[in-house]
Amino acid sequence: MPSGIILDILRGSLHDGPGIRTTVFLKGCPLACLWCHNPESQASEPVLLYTEARCVRCGACATACARDVHSVSPRSHILDRSRCAVCGRCAAACPARALEIKGRTMTIAQVMTEVMPDIDYYRATDGGLTLSGGEPLLQVDFAAALLQAAREQGIHTALETCGWAPMAAFERVRPLVDLFLFDWKGSDSAQHAAQTGVPNEPILRNLDLLYRAGARIVLRCPLVPGVNDSEANLAGIAALSRSYYDLAGIEIMPYHHMGNEKARRSGQEPRLDRPDADAAVKTVWRERLCALGCREVIMT
Ligand code: SF4
Ligand code: SF4
Repeated sequence: MPSGIILDILRGSLHDGPGIRTTVFLKGCPLACLWCHNPESQASEPVLLYTEARCVRCGACATACARDVHSVSPRSHILDRSRCAVCGRCAAACPARALEIKGRTMTIAQVMTEVMPDIDYYRATDGGLTLSGGEPLLQVDFAAALLQAAREQGIHTALETCGWAPMAAFERVRPLVDLFLFDWKGSDSAQHAAQTGVPNEPILRNLDLLYRAGARIVLRCPLVPGVNDSEANLAGIAALSRSYYDLAGIEIMPYHHMGNEKARRSGQEPRLDRPDADAAVKTVWRERLCALGCREVIMT
């Protein structure tokens, strides 16, 4: 059985498909969205997170690290991440939980051990297991095996995807997925490339493939005020809802800036700093989408 690199496992999730779910976040993503709310998921390998607000400058990490990554003084703590081997010794030594390794290799059996305790909740609420990321199809062997293991236990399966993966990967997991949560981040391909790093045509081809094969799909559209909430993009979302009239819903995911702090913790500079989408903005989006003929709008 393949093993996978897991970013996190979230039990009791209410936002990644119907009912109460366990969401398994797989590491690695082929996109680099400006607004990414899980930037620590983008790298395929484990990463060291540092939360400055928790650090008490005790220097235990510097003592534990054999690679001189940490320079600690009473007033500052500087990390030279280029030297880090992500061994985790510093995190284990930190008394303040200011350091954490995100990303661990797990087997299917280990993941299922964390998924199974909530099986009664899944059954009572029509919930189940959701694979998310990152992009779960970057680890398609592991994803398929995990979906199969859930199916064997009678657990409902959902897969959240950015849509950027080989068609063969989608064809492989399609029979194992009860619900796809399929991202649609922008209707203009050049803007999509500028904002996510890839054009949108292959994503549309995969959406089309899944839809025509009869997959149940919720289209998930992140909207960022002033970035991708143009009239043209809203019209593009509405056009998709009309073309793919059997979609299970169009879910609008309003921007929030929580990803910026996570980016800093993983040693990245935030690439977008905007106020969160407020209630007034969401109302305008909903009204515009409805006026454009968009069906089944869900605002999260
Ligand atoms: S993870 Fe290992 S190599 Fe990296 S800073 Fe910590 S102790 Fe040093
Ligand atoms: S061990 Fe933790 S609290 Fe102490 S200096 Fe390092 S990060 Fe800060």
